[in-house]
Amino acid sequence: MDFVVYLNSHDIHRISTNLKVPPESFIQLYQPEDKDSAVRVDDGLYDLALKDDNGTCNFLKREDGQFRCGIQSFKPGICRTYPFEVRRGKFVQIVKKVCPVDWRLPKYLEEQMSSMYDSHYKEWDFYQELVEEWNKGQKDRSLSSFTNFANSRVEISLQNSA
Ligand code: SF4
Repeated sequence: MDFVVYLNSHDIHRISTNLKVPPESFIQLYQPEDKDSAVRVDDGLYDLALKDDNGTCNFLKREDGQFRCGIQSFKPGICRTYPFEVRRGKFVQIVKKVCPVDWRLPKYLEEQMSSMYDSHYKEWDFYQELVEEWNKGQKDRSLSSFTNFANSRVEISLQNSA
C-alpha cells in the first residue's frame, strides 16, 4: 500500500470493539521507520498498521458505484486527520498524500481539526508509553498478547476519564 495506515492502541481498541473481531484479524506488521517507537512482537520490532488487499485498505467498500470507508465512524486517527498535518503550528497538507486534490481548509474546519489533532496526539503519546513498558517487560511477545495488554490499558484509561 502506498499510504500505510499506522495504528495506535486506541485505534485498535475502537476497531476491534466496534467490529467485535480480534485485533489480529486487521493488523499487519510493518518494518518500522523509527525503531525507538516500535513494538517488540514475535521475533522483532514492528509498527502496527491496517492490513491491505493488493494495495487497497481492507475496509474500503464499493457501494452504488462509489468508494466508501467501511468503518467511517471509528476509522483510525490517521484517516480522520488525512490529508493534513500540523507543521510549525499551521495545518498543511501532508507531502506524500495519495489523494491528488488540493484541499482548502476554512477557519471553522481548522478549529474542528484542531481538537481532533489534540486527541490524536494524546492517543499517540499514550501508545508510546505503553509500547515502552511492553518492550521492557513481557515474556510472551505474541501479537495477541500485546493487543490484549494494549486493549486492557485503553479500557482502564477510558474508565478513568469517564
Ligand atoms: S478511511 Fe477507511 S477505507 Fe480509507 S484507509 Fe482509512 S480505514 Fe481504510
